[in-house]
Amino acid sequence: MKFTFVTLFENLVKHYFEDSILSRAIKDEIFNIDFVNPRDFAMDKHKKVDDYQAGGGAGLLLKPEPLSLALESIKNENPEAYFIFATPAGKSFKQIDAKRLSQKEHVVFVNGRYEGIDERIIEKYADELFSIGDYILTGGELPSMCMCDAVSRNIPKVLGNAESLDVESYENNLLEAPAFTKPNTFQGSEIIKEYLKGNHGNILTLKSRLSVCKTNYFRPDLFKKIKNTR
Ligand code: SAM
Repeated sequence: MKFTFVTLFENLVKHYFEDSILSRAIKDEIFNIDFVNPRDFAMDKHKKVDDYQAGGGAGLLLKPEPLSLALESIKNENPEAYFIFATPAGKSFKQIDAKRLSQKEHVVFVNGRYEGIDERIIEKYADELFSIGDYILTGGELPSMCMCDAVSRNIPKVLGNAESLDVESYENNLLEAPAFTKPNTFQGSEIIKEYLKGNHGNILTLKSRLSVCKTNYFRPDLFKKIKNTR
């Protein structure tokens, strides 16, 4: 699988993938990442990629021409490339999207900067628009890195233990049950006793109950969904 980041600021993104599990997956060629900079497609001698907003308004927008040429260059190389735009206007990015997108062959993250992107580019090229939350960030790079991270850990063989994906939070709208490690007593607080008895059937049953309780407590919105499907 391949991810392409369309960004003016490659350095903001690339270091994230130089460490830990994802760097190992890249070294093992399970997926790879490349970068396309719209500035490389700017026509004028100043390599201008932004301009004032038509009709007025604070701040600059990414101009359509360099961005369009940048996206066409990706399409020419791979007509199947799937274009995701990071934008506050997008639907909320969810784990189910991360799983679904991990089946694609080539995902392209298009990142706005300044006051965003000329709307015509979004209309022409976006396969999907995603927001990572109801707040405004300086650029699309962080949202795209979040999405890319979430997608890539669902690609087979990226995680050492694929089973961990099945019990993670948001599977079936549930949060993962409370988890503990050594020591058994920490500052007077103990691990749930059943976890230490070695009966895996009992532990699984308890964890599944705790998972429902935890969801009810922390995410009543998700809890409502599981109640409605039972
Ligand atoms: N003027 C835009 C608005 O009010 O909708 C915000 C532009 S924001 C400063 C610049 C870029 O950051 C956006 O084009 C988008 O790519 C990215 N961005 C900011 N917040 C985001 C969010 N919550 N989710 C996804 N992308 C976001």
